[in-house]
Amino acid sequence: MDTRFFVAWIEDAARLVRLQREHLTELDAAIGDADHGTNLDRGFTEVRQAFADQPPDTPAQVLLSAGATLIRRVGGASGPLYGSVFRQMGRSLDDPVTLAGFAAAFEAGVVAVERLGKTAPGDKTMVDALAPASRELARAVRDGVGAREAFERAARAAEEGARATIPLRARKGRASYLGERSIGHEDPGAASSALIVAALAAVA
Ligand code: ADP
Ligand code: MG
Repeated sequence: MDTRFFVAWIEDAARLVRLQREHLTELDAAIGDADHGTNLDRGFTEVRQAFADQPPDTPAQVLLSAGATLIRRVGGASGPLYGSVFRQMGRSLDDPVTLAGFAAAFEAGVVAVERLGKTAPGDKTMVDALAPASRELARAVRDGVGAREAFERAARAAEEGARATIPLRARKGRASYLGERSIGHEDPGAASSALIVAALAAVA
């Protein structure tokens, strides 16, 4: 996986976020403040602009640049949280990037967001999509499958993880203020995480 792969990943994530912007915002309207789609779309648009202004030339630089831009430009909880995933992944990547190296860096990114968000799977957050994706990547490495199949498995796990947030009661973020009333709605951050992992499968 080279620099071009990582740029393609982030650009495809930006494309999917743009396509699903209204849907993500509707999910956030139900249990938050109706800004998740616009927040992320603005953030990823800025990330693409940053790539154009200063083309990254290593995989790590792609993720460090994306992370820093999301932290700086996204108002709302999700900016610093996604920023920390990408920045920690960037710091953890070796060059050249193998599937095993990618999986380990992804896991480090998930640990970073769990720490920053003081959260764990089951709290009805983005971690409910990211953690199962990470687990599938690790399993795919152990199974010795290729990158495309590994990313497809991860994308399915993230999608299932996002859907599995519907019956959960939110314990973190704005949605937690709703208590019981957060039950019955998909978490917007889990839904956007599933898109970001789906983008990996799309470009592999
Ligand atoms: P805000 O809640 O500030 O309006 P967004 O709407 O952009 O920010 O993002 C909301 C998403 O952020 C939630 O759906 C959830 O997935 C994620 N989130 C919020 N708080 C946390 C946290 N403490 N840990 C992990 N993810 C969180
Ligand atoms: Mg919001």
